[in-house]
Amino acid sequence: MSQQTKKCLYCEVENDSNNENCSHCGMALPIKHPKDKQKNIKFFVKAFWGIALFCLIMVFFLPR
Ligand SMILES: [Zn+2]
Repeated sequence: MSQQTKKCLYCEVENDSNNENCSHCGMALPIKHPKDKQKNIKFFVKAFWGIALFCLIMVFFLPR
């Protein structure tokens, strides 16, 4: 069995991968996988295009 550790983002202490919170400072440890990060980026791209489209519509439909 290989023991996996997670590094705390705040105090940089190695924690057991089963831990949800840092044993040193108590902050939440990163639990998300790289896949979730990609999902997040996709969401941001979608949100960006949504806002861009909204602005474009507003430019044409707002009364001057
Ligand atoms: Zn910590």
